[in-house]
Amino acid sequence: MAHDMTAQTMTLGYARMGKRRELKKALEGFWSGALGSEALLATFWDLETQAWQTQLQAGIDYIAVGEQTLYDHVLDWATWLGLIPSRFRGLSGLDRYFVMARGREGLPALEMTKWFDTNYHYLVPEIEPEADPSPNFGDFLERVRWAQGILGERTSPVVLSPVTLLCLSQRSGDLRADLEKLLPLYWDLLQELQQLGIPEVQIHDPILVTSQGSGLQEAVEMTYRQLATVGIPVHLVTYFDDLGEAYPWVVQLPVAGISLDFTRGHNLDLVRTYGFPADKILGAGVVDARNVWKIQPEAVLAGLQELQGVAPNLRVQPSASLQFVPHDAALETQLPEPLRNVLSFAEQKLAEVALLARALNGEDTAAQQAEIRQQWQSFAQFSPPNPQVRQALANLKLQDFERSLPYEQRLSRQVQLPPLPTTTIGSFPQTPEVRQWRAKYKRGEVSQAEYEAAIDAEIAKCIRIQEEIGLDVLVHGEFERTDMVEYFAQKLEGFAFTEHGWVQSYGSRCVRPPILYGDVFRPQPMTVREFQVAQSHTQKPVKGMLTGPVTMLNWSFPRVDIPRREQAFQIALALRAEVADLEAAGAVMVQVDEPALREGLPLKKERWPEYLSWAVDAFRLATGGAKPETQIHTHMCYSEFGDIIEHIERLDADVLSIENSRSNNKTLLQIAQAGYRHQVGNGVYDVHSPAVPSVEQILQQLRTGLAHLPVEQTWVNPDCGLKTRRWEEVIPALKNMVAAAHQLGEELLETQLEGSL
Ligand code: GLN
Ligand code: ZN
Repeated sequence: MAHDMTAQTMTLGYARMGKRRELKKALEGFWSGALGSEALLATFWDLETQAWQTQLQAGIDYIAVGEQTLYDHVLDWATWLGLIPSRFRGLSGLDRYFVMARGREGLPALEMTKWFDTNYHYLVPEIEPEADPSPNFGDFLERVRWAQGILGERTSPVVLSPVTLLCLSQRSGDLRADLEKLLPLYWDLLQELQQLGIPEVQIHDPILVTSQGSGLQEAVEMTYRQLATVGIPVHLVTYFDDLGEAYPWVVQLPVAGISLDFTRGHNLDLVRTYGFPADKILGAGVVDARNVWKIQPEAVLAGLQELQGVAPNLRVQPSASLQFVPHDAALETQLPEPLRNVLSFAEQKLAEVALLARALNGEDTAAQQAEIRQQWQSFAQFSPPNPQVRQALANLKLQDFERSLPYEQRLSRQVQLPPLPTTTIGSFPQTPEVRQWRAKYKRGEVSQAEYEAAIDAEIAKCIRIQEEIGLDVLVHGEFERTDMVEYFAQKLEGFAFTEHGWVQSYGSRCVRPPILYGDVFRPQPMTVREFQVAQSHTQKPVKGMLTGPVTMLNWSFPRVDIPRREQAFQIALALRAEVADLEAAGAVMVQVDEPALREGLPLKKERWPEYLSWAVDAFRLATGGAKPETQIHTHMCYSEFGDIIEHIERLDADVLSIENSRSNNKTLLQIAQAGYRHQVGNGVYDVHSPAVPSVEQILQQLRTGLAHLPVEQTWVNPDCGLKTRRWEEVIPALKNMVAAAHQLGEELLETQLEGSL
């Protein structure tokens, strides 16, 4: 596109799956055998084409192409580059692609992990030392050609940088050596794109914004220097944070343009401090691609104008791919209008990008800007601050964040249990019948009384089964919950729910995060009824079961008008009241799950302490009001604690249950080595597998565990909730777990007796 100094617009990727999750349905149909590969691919092409059309209609100048995916874009690049681990080499085509993604008997899938600090998960490429990749870019190039027919010069192919790809891969080799293998393949690809007449290619290099980024200078310089020799203009794209220390050298790389995220981190300060090369295009990611709120046009425009002063060749963009937001807020007709009007999903964000560019180019956009201003004003009236909530926050004192006695003194006042107490993490199998009851109740087909009776019957059965198994600490089973965050968000004021607000979590799996839009408070108790029902059926202690404030926040779309810390504290206050109500109802143990605490860690390590400080405070605020007699449990289903152990200690939970079975005891070891003094639930049973662990296996894990962590500190439990498992798997597995704990308990008793003789 020919260019004077008018600002243009670009996208970095679009919402996935289709407006009605058509791709999800097609994928699941294909996997079940109900749909052929041609039909699956037709759906995919159709959706990709629709995404282009939508962006074209919005007037976007450079439209991202090739980033839509059947499962995961990192897997796409691994496949196109021919980075196929040897165990998959007997397979080919779609079959191989999906086996790499999902595994098959005897062929474990690639590992899956979180894409930077988002809730999207990618498949980790495995680079074998002797790998001699034979690429095949046919699929990618075909899509690019197809796009050219629709988008012409606007076609902007998206390529995943070899540096980011390698840094995210499992590999044993030297980065430089691996890069040298890949660069010729990228070189050929860029050349093919150039031959197609593509005006510019996007290379996405988000690794540059992480703490690792500044150490990659040599590799990155080598990469872009080599790719520059092709001659096709390269646009280096970064997102999710600022470039930090890498900024001064990144902006000097031999590329035509650089995209920066101006919605997170401090890129604006970096531009102010170091300037920006006048001969390069600056891609200004000013429309937040990771949240669902409309822009405040005046504020964003002021920033853009300042940037334009430094970098006259400017592009207005979403801050990242729009894959992190749903398609269209206009579909949310059930939401109150003042709220819906300030929501911005992918389609609305395209309009915002276009509007900003028009305003920047001197067109009269006063009316549209005034409309958005008006919408925000109506929203402010619709959702004013809640005076009680604000007052409660303002009145917080230091002691509100502390249990009234230290751990050592609480210990003797809490329920006494046999050595190696056994428990579970909370949920029990959600059978089709249970799901049906919930669905019928939601549709209004059964009365509240009928629904509750059905849930209560399930709770009673669950308690009976746990007693038969011989567990020491019981749970009610969470049958009333579809999802651990959604359930609480629905009971609290301040959260809204969408009908179509799906975003891809991984593969065909989508989530519909709640939208936190107003001050949070708890109109009434949320879990007390089910707790009471459960406790009424047993003499053994039943744990109250809550989702923690940080997880609630991290798995929702947060507000943008008050800090996240404040939002977490509001949720914490609501949970604190729930803990008190559970105590009043007779609970002697309350578990507050924080599986998402670690996920919220900022990409830059230097920002960890700030986040962890308020995140841990929020947990302490939720649990600090508990009586010393009340045992506070928490559960975290991940296996890296080494680097945050001091913060885990500061949670001051009495019992921490962890994922430990897949990490081969590494987790427990880290915790023990750090000198953790509180109790730890050794997650000895891998709930992600249908396999029933044997008594021997569990004994083995417990024995090694006990070599590091004293028996007084050790609990025995599965490594996560059991809701996705079947009763037929769960019952024998838990029986084996209890048998192992008992056997070991007796052995220990005998050695003690022998010792005292
Ligand atoms: N209590 C929840 C459950 O058992 C915890 C889930 C989780 O850690 N993700 O399902
Ligand atoms: Zn878990």
